Amino acid sequence: MSSGRITIFDTTLRDGEQSPGISLNALEKVEIAEQLARLGVDVIEAGFPISSPGDFEGVQKIAAEVSGVTVCALARAVEKDIRTAWDAIREAERPRIHTFISTSDVHLKYQLRKSRDEVLEAAKRMVSLAVSLCDDVEFSAMDATRSDPEFLAAVLAAAVAEGATTINIPDTVGYALPSEFGDFIRRQVEMVPGLKDVTVSVHCHNDLGLAVANSLAAVQAGAKQVECAVNGLGERAGNASLEEMVMILETRRSSLGLSTGINTVEIDRTSKLVSQLTGYEVQPNKAIVGKNAFAHESGIHQDGVLKERTTYEIMSASSIGRSRSDIVLGKHSGRHALKVAMEELGIELDGEELDQAFARFKKIADRKKQVTAVDLEHLVSEELRQQADLLELKSYEVTSSSEFIPTCQVIIEKEGERLLGKSFSGGSMESIFQAIDDAVGIQGKLKDYQVRAVTGGKDALGEVRVVVEVNGEDYAGTALSIDVVEASAKAYVRAVNNAYRAGGVK
Ligand SMILES: [Zn+2]
Repeated sequence: MSSGRITIFDTTLRDGEQSPGISLNALEKVEIAEQLARLGVDVIEAGFPISSPGDFEGVQKIAAEVSGVTVCALARAVEKDIRTAWDAIREAERPRIHTFISTSDVHLKYQLRKSRDEVLEAAKRMVSLAVSLCDDVEFSAMDATRSDPEFLAAVLAAAVAEGATTINIPDTVGYALPSEFGDFIRRQVEMVPGLKDVTVSVHCHNDLGLAVANSLAAVQAGAKQVECAVNGLGERAGNASLEEMVMILETRRSSLGLSTGINTVEIDRTSKLVSQLTGYEVQPNKAIVGKNAFAHESGIHQDGVLKERTTYEIMSASSIGRSRSDIVLGKHSGRHALKVAMEELGIELDGEELDQAFARFKKIADRKKQVTAVDLEHLVSEELRQQADLLELKSYEVTSSSEFIPTCQVIIEKEGERLLGKSFSGGSMESIFQAIDDAVGIQGKLKDYQVRAVTGGKDALGEVRVVVEVNGEDYAGTALSIDVVEASAKAYVRAVNNAYRAGGVK
Protein backbone atom coordinates (compact mmCIF):
# COMPACT_ATOMS: atom_id res chain seq x y z
CA MET A 1 0.00 0.00 0.00
CA SER A 2 1.33 3.34 -1.01
CA SER A 3 1.13 6.34 1.24
CA GLY A 4 2.23 9.89 1.65
CA ARG A 5 2.78 13.07 -0.19
CA ILE A 6 3.29 13.14 -3.95
CA THR A 7 5.58 15.79 -5.44
CA ILE A 8 3.99 17.55 -8.40
CA PHE A 9 6.62 18.42 -10.98
CA ASP A 10 5.16 20.65 -13.66
CA THR A 11 6.70 20.58 -17.11
CA THR A 12 4.21 22.82 -18.93
CA LEU A 13 6.97 25.32 -19.64
CA ARG A 14 9.48 22.74 -20.88
CA ASP A 15 7.83 19.63 -22.38
CA GLY A 16 4.56 21.51 -22.93
CA GLU A 17 6.31 24.42 -24.55
CA GLN A 18 7.86 21.97 -27.06
CA SER A 19 4.41 21.39 -28.60
CA PRO A 20 4.23 22.61 -32.20
CA GLY A 21 3.05 26.17 -32.55
CA ILE A 22 3.63 27.16 -28.94
CA SER A 23 6.07 29.97 -28.52
CA LEU A 24 5.93 31.82 -25.26
CA ASN A 25 8.03 34.90 -24.62
CA ALA A 26 9.89 35.34 -21.34
CA LEU A 27 7.15 37.50 -19.79
CA GLU A 28 4.46 34.99 -20.64
CA LYS A 29 6.57 32.22 -19.15
CA VAL A 30 6.94 34.20 -15.94
CA GLU A 31 3.19 34.81 -15.84
CA ILE A 32 2.49 31.08 -16.15
CA ALA A 33 5.22 30.24 -13.62
CA GLU A 34 3.73 32.66 -11.08
CA GLN A 35 0.35 31.02 -11.52
CA LEU A 36 1.93 27.57 -11.15
CA ALA A 37 3.44 28.74 -7.86
CA ARG A 38 -0.01 29.91 -6.69
CA LEU A 39 -1.40 26.56 -7.78
CA GLY A 40 1.11 25.00 -5.40
CA VAL A 41 3.22 22.81 -7.67
CA ASP A 42 6.42 21.67 -5.98
CA VAL A 43 8.73 21.96 -8.97
CA ILE A 44 8.51 24.08 -12.11
CA GLU A 45 10.58 22.79 -14.99
CA ALA A 46 11.11 26.19 -16.54
CA GLY A 47 12.87 25.22 -19.76
CA PHE A 48 15.89 23.79 -21.54
CA PRO A 49 18.39 26.69 -21.38
CA ILE A 50 20.94 25.34 -23.88
CA SER A 51 18.28 25.05 -26.59
CA SER A 52 18.02 28.78 -27.35
CA PRO A 53 18.87 32.21 -25.93
CA GLY A 54 15.13 32.85 -25.52
CA ASP A 55 14.73 29.71 -23.45
CA PHE A 56 17.74 30.64 -21.32
CA GLU A 57 16.25 34.09 -20.67
CA GLY A 58 12.84 32.66 -19.75
CA VAL A 59 14.36 30.21 -17.26
CA GLN A 60 16.58 32.90 -15.78
CA LYS A 61 13.67 35.30 -15.31
CA ILE A 62 11.55 32.64 -13.63
CA ALA A 63 14.44 31.69 -11.35
CA ALA A 64 14.93 35.32 -10.35
CA GLU A 65 11.27 36.31 -9.96
CA VAL A 66 9.21 33.33 -8.88
CA SER A 67 9.47 32.27 -5.27
CA GLY A 68 8.14 29.52 -3.06
CA VAL A 69 8.83 26.75 -5.55
CA THR A 70 11.75 24.72 -6.90
CA VAL A 71 12.84 25.98 -10.32
CA CYS A 72 14.35 23.32 -12.51
CA ALA A 73 16.29 23.49 -15.79
CA LEU A 74 16.80 20.62 -18.22
CA ALA A 75 20.21 19.59 -19.53
CA ARG A 76 21.49 16.68 -21.60
CA ALA A 77 24.26 14.71 -19.92
CA VAL A 78 26.74 17.05 -21.56
CA GLU A 79 29.02 19.46 -19.72
CA LYS A 80 28.04 22.67 -21.53
CA ASP A 81 24.30 21.88 -21.12
CA ILE A 82 24.72 21.40 -17.39
CA ARG A 83 26.78 24.55 -16.92
CA THR A 84 24.32 26.59 -18.98
CA ALA A 85 21.38 25.17 -17.02
CA TRP A 86 23.10 26.12 -13.77
CA ASP A 87 23.79 29.65 -15.03
CA ALA A 88 20.10 30.07 -15.77
CA ILE A 89 18.80 28.87 -12.39
CA ARG A 90 21.51 29.77 -9.92
CA GLU A 91 19.52 32.74 -8.60
CA ALA A 92 16.47 30.65 -7.79
CA GLU A 93 15.35 30.23 -4.19
CA ARG A 94 15.44 26.46 -4.75
CA PRO A 95 17.29 25.53 -7.96
CA ARG A 96 17.31 22.04 -9.50
CA ILE A 97 19.37 20.68 -12.39
CA HIS A 98 17.63 17.94 -14.35
CA THR A 99 19.99 15.95 -16.53
CA PHE A 100 19.13 13.02 -18.76
CA ILE A 101 20.52 10.38 -21.07
CA SER A 102 18.89 7.58 -23.03
CA THR A 103 19.24 4.02 -21.78
CA SER A 104 17.34 2.00 -24.41
CA ASP A 105 19.35 0.08 -26.99
CA VAL A 106 17.37 1.60 -29.83
CA HIS A 107 18.29 5.12 -28.69
CA LEU A 108 21.90 4.14 -27.97
CA LYS A 109 22.34 2.62 -31.40
CA TYR A 110 20.54 5.13 -33.61
CA GLN A 111 20.48 8.38 -31.69
CA LEU A 112 23.42 8.57 -29.32
CA ARG A 113 25.69 6.12 -31.17
CA LYS A 114 27.20 5.18 -27.83
CA SER A 115 27.87 1.86 -26.15
CA ARG A 116 26.24 0.94 -22.85
CA ASP A 117 29.57 1.50 -21.09
CA GLU A 118 29.87 4.98 -22.57
CA VAL A 119 26.34 5.86 -21.45
CA LEU A 120 26.98 4.58 -17.93
CA GLU A 121 30.19 6.59 -17.78
CA ALA A 122 28.53 9.78 -19.07
CA ALA A 123 25.70 9.45 -16.56
CA LYS A 124 28.20 9.11 -13.68
CA ARG A 125 30.36 12.04 -14.73
CA MET A 126 27.52 14.40 -15.53
CA VAL A 127 25.51 13.70 -12.37
CA SER A 128 28.71 14.26 -10.46
CA LEU A 129 29.26 17.59 -12.24
CA ALA A 130 25.66 18.69 -11.59
CA VAL A 131 25.95 17.73 -7.91
CA SER A 132 29.10 19.83 -7.63
CA LEU A 133 27.06 22.86 -8.75
CA CYS A 134 23.65 22.31 -7.19
CA ASP A 135 22.32 20.46 -4.13
CA ASP A 136 19.18 19.31 -5.91
CA VAL A 137 19.87 17.11 -8.95
CA GLU A 138 17.42 15.00 -10.90
CA PHE A 139 18.54 12.29 -13.27
CA SER A 140 16.34 10.82 -16.01
CA ALA A 141 16.91 7.67 -18.00
CA MET A 142 15.27 8.54 -21.28
CA ASP A 143 13.18 5.76 -22.88
CA ALA A 144 13.46 3.80 -19.62
CA THR A 145 10.46 1.59 -20.32
CA ARG A 146 12.08 0.20 -23.48
CA SER A 147 15.46 -0.29 -21.82
CA ASP A 148 16.98 -3.54 -20.62
CA PRO A 149 15.92 -3.52 -16.94
CA GLU A 150 19.36 -4.75 -15.79
CA PHE A 151 21.23 -2.02 -17.64
CA LEU A 152 18.72 0.61 -16.52
CA ALA A 153 19.21 -0.51 -12.91
CA ALA A 154 22.98 -0.15 -13.31
CA VAL A 155 22.66 3.41 -14.64
CA LEU A 156 20.16 4.44 -11.94
CA ALA A 157 22.38 2.95 -9.22
CA ALA A 158 25.32 4.95 -10.56
CA ALA A 159 23.28 8.18 -10.60
CA VAL A 160 22.20 7.61 -6.99
CA ALA A 161 25.78 6.84 -5.98
CA GLU A 162 26.94 10.14 -7.55
CA GLY A 163 24.43 12.08 -5.49
CA ALA A 164 21.27 12.51 -7.63
CA THR A 165 18.37 13.22 -5.27
CA THR A 166 15.52 12.45 -7.67
CA ILE A 167 15.54 9.56 -10.15
CA ASN A 168 13.08 9.80 -13.00
CA ILE A 169 11.89 6.74 -14.90
CA PRO A 170 10.05 8.01 -17.96
CA ASP A 171 7.77 6.29 -20.43
CA THR A 172 9.16 8.55 -23.13
CA VAL A 173 7.24 7.07 -26.04
CA GLY A 174 3.95 6.42 -24.23
CA TYR A 175 4.08 2.66 -24.79
CA ALA A 176 3.64 1.21 -21.30
CA LEU A 177 0.50 -0.33 -19.84
CA PRO A 178 -0.48 0.62 -16.29
CA SER A 179 -0.05 -2.85 -14.75
CA GLU A 180 3.26 -3.31 -16.56
CA PHE A 181 4.55 0.11 -15.57
CA GLY A 182 3.68 -0.41 -11.91
CA ASP A 183 5.62 -3.70 -11.94
CA PHE A 184 8.49 -2.04 -13.79
CA ILE A 185 8.86 0.60 -11.06
CA ARG A 186 8.64 -2.01 -8.28
CA ARG A 187 11.31 -4.12 -9.97
CA GLN A 188 13.71 -1.19 -10.31
CA VAL A 189 13.27 -0.36 -6.64
CA GLU A 190 14.11 -3.99 -5.80
CA MET A 191 17.15 -4.02 -8.06
CA VAL A 192 18.47 -0.62 -6.94
CA PRO A 193 18.33 -0.45 -3.13
CA GLY A 194 19.55 3.16 -3.23
CA LEU A 195 16.22 4.23 -4.79
CA LYS A 196 14.67 3.93 -1.32
CA ASP A 197 16.72 6.93 -0.19
CA VAL A 198 15.87 9.22 -3.10
CA THR A 199 12.66 10.42 -4.74
CA VAL A 200 11.49 8.10 -7.51
CA SER A 201 9.77 10.02 -10.27
CA VAL A 202 7.83 9.16 -13.42
CA HIS A 203 7.22 11.05 -16.64
CA CYS A 204 4.56 9.49 -18.86
CA HIS A 205 3.48 10.39 -22.36
CA ASN A 206 -0.03 10.07 -23.63
CA ASP A 207 0.39 8.44 -27.02
CA LEU A 208 -2.08 5.70 -26.08
CA GLY A 209 -4.11 7.88 -23.74
CA LEU A 210 -2.50 6.16 -20.73
CA ALA A 211 -0.23 8.88 -19.33
CA VAL A 212 -2.35 9.53 -16.26
CA ALA A 213 -3.21 5.85 -15.75
CA ASN A 214 0.48 4.94 -15.93
CA SER A 215 1.43 7.72 -13.53
CA LEU A 216 -1.21 6.51 -11.12
CA ALA A 217 0.08 2.92 -11.35
CA ALA A 218 3.56 4.25 -10.62
CA VAL A 219 2.58 6.13 -7.47
CA GLN A 220 0.70 3.07 -6.29
CA ALA A 221 3.95 1.18 -6.81
CA GLY A 222 5.82 3.70 -4.67
CA ALA A 223 6.90 6.53 -6.98
CA LYS A 224 6.81 9.85 -5.13
CA GLN A 225 7.04 12.41 -7.91
CA VAL A 226 4.81 12.78 -10.97
CA GLU A 227 5.87 14.91 -13.91
CA CYS A 228 2.87 16.40 -15.60
CA ALA A 229 1.62 19.41 -17.51
CA VAL A 230 -1.38 21.69 -17.35
CA ASN A 231 -4.08 20.66 -19.83
CA GLY A 232 -1.92 17.61 -20.64
CA LEU A 233 0.34 19.66 -22.92
CA GLY A 234 3.57 18.15 -24.17
CA GLU A 235 5.35 16.49 -27.06
CA ARG A 236 3.00 14.67 -29.50
CA ALA A 237 -0.10 13.56 -27.57
CA GLY A 238 1.23 15.29 -24.51
CA ASN A 239 2.19 14.49 -20.94
CA ALA A 240 0.11 13.28 -18.04
CA SER A 241 -2.44 15.99 -17.33
CA LEU A 242 -1.68 17.77 -14.06
CA GLU A 243 -5.30 18.49 -13.23
CA GLU A 244 -6.41 14.90 -13.83
CA MET A 245 -3.59 13.45 -11.73
CA VAL A 246 -4.22 15.85 -8.88
CA MET A 247 -7.99 15.41 -8.85
CA ILE A 248 -7.67 11.61 -8.94
CA LEU A 249 -5.49 11.74 -5.82
CA GLU A 250 -7.84 14.27 -4.24
CA THR A 251 -11.16 12.63 -5.12
CA ARG A 252 -9.99 9.11 -4.28
CA ARG A 253 -7.82 10.04 -1.33
CA SER A 254 -9.43 7.57 1.05
CA SER A 255 -8.69 4.68 -1.33
CA LEU A 256 -5.23 5.79 -2.40
CA GLY A 257 -3.89 7.38 0.78
CA LEU A 258 -1.92 9.94 -1.25
CA SER A 259 -1.98 13.71 -1.28
CA THR A 260 -0.40 16.68 -3.04
CA GLY A 261 0.35 20.27 -2.08
CA ILE A 262 -1.90 21.57 -4.85
CA ASN A 263 -4.37 24.32 -4.07
CA THR A 264 -7.07 22.81 -6.28
CA VAL A 265 -9.19 25.98 -6.44
CA GLU A 266 -6.47 27.45 -8.67
CA ILE A 267 -6.81 24.67 -11.26
CA ASP A 268 -9.43 26.28 -13.47
CA ARG A 269 -7.66 29.63 -13.58
CA THR A 270 -4.32 27.96 -14.39
CA SER A 271 -5.86 25.91 -17.18
CA LYS A 272 -7.45 28.98 -18.73
CA LEU A 273 -4.25 31.03 -18.51
CA VAL A 274 -2.18 28.27 -20.14
CA SER A 275 -4.78 27.77 -22.85
CA GLN A 276 -4.95 31.47 -23.56
CA LEU A 277 -1.19 32.04 -23.72
CA THR A 278 -0.33 28.87 -25.65
CA GLY A 279 -3.26 29.07 -28.04
CA TYR A 280 -4.05 25.42 -27.28
CA GLU A 281 -7.76 25.23 -26.62
CA VAL A 282 -9.05 22.72 -24.13
CA GLN A 283 -11.46 20.21 -25.65
CA PRO A 284 -14.96 20.79 -24.22
CA ASN A 285 -15.29 17.26 -22.83
CA LYS A 286 -11.77 17.17 -21.29
CA ALA A 287 -11.79 15.70 -17.78
CA ILE A 288 -11.66 18.30 -14.97
CA VAL A 289 -11.02 21.45 -17.03
CA GLY A 290 -13.20 21.00 -20.13
CA LYS A 291 -16.02 23.49 -20.54
CA ASN A 292 -18.55 20.68 -20.10
CA ALA A 293 -16.77 18.79 -17.33
CA PHE A 294 -19.40 19.87 -14.81
CA ALA A 295 -22.29 20.51 -17.20
CA HIS A 296 -25.23 18.17 -16.95
CA GLU A 297 -27.38 18.04 -20.03
CA SER A 298 -29.76 15.10 -19.65
CA GLY A 299 -32.98 15.89 -17.80
CA ILE A 300 -32.58 13.06 -15.32
CA HIS A 301 -29.00 14.05 -14.49
CA GLN A 302 -29.90 17.73 -14.12
CA ASP A 303 -32.81 16.99 -11.87
CA GLY A 304 -30.67 14.69 -9.73
CA VAL A 305 -27.78 17.14 -9.37
CA LEU A 306 -30.13 19.95 -8.41
CA LYS A 307 -31.76 17.84 -5.71
CA GLU A 308 -28.45 16.52 -4.42
CA ARG A 309 -25.14 17.28 -6.09
CA THR A 310 -23.57 13.93 -5.27
CA THR A 311 -26.17 12.02 -7.29
CA TYR A 312 -24.13 12.55 -10.45
CA GLU A 313 -21.12 14.68 -9.43
CA ILE A 314 -18.09 13.03 -7.86
CA MET A 315 -16.43 16.39 -7.25
CA SER A 316 -17.64 19.94 -7.29
CA ALA A 317 -16.93 22.64 -9.83
CA SER A 318 -16.02 24.92 -6.94
CA SER A 319 -13.23 22.54 -5.86
CA ILE A 320 -11.30 23.51 -9.02
CA GLY A 321 -12.28 27.16 -8.66
CA ARG A 322 -15.29 27.34 -10.95
CA SER A 323 -18.07 29.39 -9.46
CA ARG A 324 -20.86 26.93 -10.19
CA SER A 325 -21.76 23.98 -12.38
CA ASP A 326 -22.66 25.68 -15.61
CA ILE A 327 -25.87 23.94 -16.39
CA VAL A 328 -26.41 24.04 -20.10
CA LEU A 329 -30.07 23.62 -20.84
CA GLY A 330 -31.13 21.67 -23.89
CA LYS A 331 -34.17 19.91 -25.21
CA HIS A 332 -33.89 17.22 -22.54
CA SER A 333 -33.97 19.68 -19.67
CA GLY A 334 -36.94 19.64 -17.35
CA ARG A 335 -38.99 22.34 -15.58
CA HIS A 336 -37.00 22.08 -12.37
CA ALA A 337 -33.73 22.71 -14.23
CA LEU A 338 -35.24 25.76 -15.90
CA LYS A 339 -36.53 27.09 -12.61
CA VAL A 340 -33.14 26.71 -10.89
CA ALA A 341 -31.26 28.17 -13.85
CA MET A 342 -33.58 31.17 -13.76
CA GLU A 343 -33.06 31.55 -10.01
CA GLU A 344 -29.32 31.68 -10.64
CA LEU A 345 -30.08 34.59 -12.95
CA GLY A 346 -32.11 36.24 -10.20
CA ILE A 347 -35.49 35.56 -11.77
CA GLU A 348 -38.09 33.76 -9.66
CA LEU A 349 -40.68 31.84 -11.64
CA ASP A 350 -43.61 29.89 -10.25
CA GLY A 351 -46.98 28.57 -11.27
CA GLU A 352 -48.31 29.91 -14.53
CA GLU A 353 -45.28 32.07 -15.19
CA LEU A 354 -43.10 29.02 -15.01
CA ASP A 355 -45.48 27.07 -17.26
CA GLN A 356 -45.35 29.77 -19.86
CA ALA A 357 -41.63 30.22 -19.66
CA PHE A 358 -41.14 26.47 -19.88
CA ALA A 359 -43.39 26.13 -22.94
CA ARG A 360 -41.46 28.88 -24.61
CA PHE A 361 -38.13 27.44 -23.55
CA LYS A 362 -39.10 24.06 -25.06
CA LYS A 363 -39.86 25.68 -28.39
CA ILE A 364 -36.44 27.31 -28.47
CA ALA A 365 -34.67 24.18 -27.22
CA ASP A 366 -36.19 22.14 -30.04
CA ARG A 367 -34.39 24.31 -32.51
CA LYS A 368 -31.31 25.38 -30.60
CA LYS A 369 -28.88 22.80 -29.18
CA GLN A 370 -27.74 24.70 -26.12
CA VAL A 371 -29.81 27.27 -24.35
CA THR A 372 -27.44 29.43 -22.33
CA ALA A 373 -27.98 31.82 -19.46
CA VAL A 374 -27.98 34.76 -21.86
CA ASP A 375 -30.70 33.14 -23.99
CA LEU A 376 -32.78 32.48 -20.91
CA GLU A 377 -32.53 36.02 -19.65
CA HIS A 378 -33.80 37.36 -22.94
CA LEU A 379 -36.48 34.74 -23.25
CA VAL A 380 -37.98 35.37 -19.91
CA SER A 381 -37.87 39.11 -20.02
CA GLU A 382 -39.85 38.77 -23.23
CA GLU A 383 -42.20 36.30 -21.58
CA LEU A 384 -42.97 38.78 -18.84
CA ARG A 385 -43.51 41.62 -21.30
CA GLN A 386 -45.86 39.52 -23.37
CA GLN A 387 -48.33 38.78 -20.61
CA ALA A 388 -50.36 41.93 -20.86
CA ASP A 389 -50.59 41.75 -24.63
CA LEU A 390 -53.99 42.03 -26.23
CA LEU A 391 -52.89 40.52 -29.52
CA GLU A 392 -50.96 37.30 -29.98
CA LEU A 393 -49.42 35.98 -33.16
CA LYS A 394 -50.72 32.39 -33.43
CA SER A 395 -49.25 31.43 -36.78
CA TYR A 396 -47.88 32.79 -40.00
CA GLU A 397 -46.99 31.46 -43.40
CA VAL A 398 -44.97 33.31 -45.94
CA THR A 399 -43.94 32.15 -49.37
CA SER A 400 -41.01 33.80 -50.99
CA SER A 401 -39.19 33.11 -54.24
CA SER A 402 -37.06 34.89 -56.78
CA GLU A 403 -39.85 35.09 -59.36
CA PHE A 404 -43.16 35.67 -57.63
CA ILE A 405 -44.55 38.32 -55.37
CA PRO A 406 -44.40 37.09 -51.75
CA THR A 407 -47.71 36.06 -50.25
CA CYS A 408 -48.44 35.85 -46.57
CA GLN A 409 -51.17 34.69 -44.21
CA VAL A 410 -51.22 35.28 -40.48
CA ILE A 411 -53.57 34.36 -37.67
CA ILE A 412 -53.74 36.79 -34.75
CA GLU A 413 -55.69 36.03 -31.60
CA LYS A 414 -57.48 38.95 -29.96
CA GLU A 415 -59.56 38.27 -26.84
CA GLY A 416 -60.24 34.69 -27.92
CA GLU A 417 -61.12 35.68 -31.45
CA ARG A 418 -59.00 34.49 -34.39
CA LEU A 419 -58.27 37.14 -36.97
CA LEU A 420 -56.99 36.10 -40.38
CA GLY A 421 -54.86 38.46 -42.43
CA LYS A 422 -53.50 38.17 -45.98
CA SER A 423 -51.21 40.09 -48.24
CA PHE A 424 -49.26 39.80 -51.44
CA SER A 425 -46.87 42.61 -52.03
CA GLY A 426 -43.31 43.85 -51.65
CA GLY A 427 -40.58 41.84 -49.90
CA SER A 428 -41.30 39.00 -47.53
CA MET A 429 -40.96 41.12 -44.37
CA GLU A 430 -43.19 43.80 -45.80
CA SER A 431 -45.66 41.11 -46.77
CA ILE A 432 -45.85 39.84 -43.17
CA PHE A 433 -46.31 43.31 -41.74
CA GLN A 434 -49.11 43.99 -44.22
CA ALA A 435 -50.83 40.71 -43.37
CA ILE A 436 -50.77 41.70 -39.68
CA ASP A 437 -52.26 45.09 -40.58
CA ASP A 438 -54.94 43.28 -42.57
CA ALA A 439 -55.83 40.99 -39.67
CA VAL A 440 -56.01 43.76 -37.10
CA GLY A 441 -57.56 46.34 -39.41
CA ILE A 442 -54.96 49.08 -39.15
CA GLN A 443 -52.60 50.86 -41.48
CA GLY A 444 -49.15 50.65 -39.98
CA LYS A 445 -46.06 52.21 -41.43
CA LEU A 446 -42.66 50.72 -40.70
CA LYS A 447 -40.35 53.50 -39.57
CA ASP A 448 -37.36 51.51 -38.30
CA TYR A 449 -36.23 47.91 -38.43
CA GLN A 450 -33.15 46.44 -36.72
CA VAL A 451 -31.89 42.90 -36.25
CA ARG A 452 -29.09 41.78 -33.97
CA ALA A 453 -27.81 38.44 -32.70
CA VAL A 454 -28.04 38.38 -28.91
CA THR A 455 -26.12 35.16 -28.41
CA GLY A 456 -23.19 33.60 -30.25
CA GLY A 457 -23.12 30.83 -32.82
CA LYS A 458 -24.98 29.99 -35.99
CA ASP A 459 -28.13 29.14 -34.06
CA ALA A 460 -28.05 32.38 -32.09
CA LEU A 461 -31.18 34.10 -30.93
CA GLY A 462 -31.99 37.08 -33.10
CA GLU A 463 -33.59 40.17 -31.63
CA VAL A 464 -35.69 42.32 -33.90
CA ARG A 465 -36.75 45.82 -33.02
CA VAL A 466 -39.29 47.70 -35.08
CA VAL A 467 -40.83 51.14 -34.88
CA VAL A 468 -44.27 51.32 -36.42
CA GLU A 469 -46.30 54.43 -37.05
CA VAL A 470 -50.00 53.93 -36.36
CA ASN A 471 -52.42 56.83 -36.75
CA GLY A 472 -49.62 59.33 -36.69
CA GLU A 473 -47.87 58.01 -33.55
CA ASP A 474 -44.73 55.84 -33.29
CA TYR A 475 -44.75 52.59 -31.32
CA ALA A 476 -41.78 50.30 -30.77
CA GLY A 477 -41.78 46.54 -30.37
CA THR A 478 -39.01 44.00 -29.85
CA ALA A 479 -39.04 40.22 -30.02
CA LEU A 480 -36.65 37.30 -29.99
CA SER A 481 -36.47 34.09 -31.92
CA ILE A 482 -33.88 31.91 -33.54
CA ASP A 483 -35.87 32.57 -36.72
CA VAL A 484 -35.53 36.16 -37.82
CA VAL A 485 -38.81 36.11 -39.78
CA GLU A 486 -40.69 34.98 -36.71
CA ALA A 487 -38.93 37.55 -34.55
CA SER A 488 -39.88 40.25 -37.05
CA ALA A 489 -43.56 39.25 -37.05
CA LYS A 490 -43.66 39.13 -33.26
CA ALA A 491 -41.92 42.47 -32.93
CA TYR A 492 -44.47 44.04 -35.25
CA VAL A 493 -47.36 42.54 -33.30
CA ARG A 494 -45.75 43.83 -30.10
CA ALA A 495 -45.60 47.32 -31.54
CA VAL A 496 -49.26 47.13 -32.49
CA ASN A 497 -50.08 45.90 -28.98
CA ASN A 498 -48.29 48.92 -27.61
CA ALA A 499 -50.39 51.08 -29.88
CA TYR A 500 -53.56 49.50 -28.48
CA ARG A 501 -52.34 49.89 -24.93
CA ALA A 502 -51.57 53.55 -25.48
CA GLY A 503 -54.99 54.11 -26.96
CA GLY A 504 -53.58 54.75 -30.43
CA VAL A 505 -55.93 52.14 -31.94
CA LYS A 506 -59.60 52.14 -31.11
ZN1 LIG B 1 8.46 14.27 -22.19
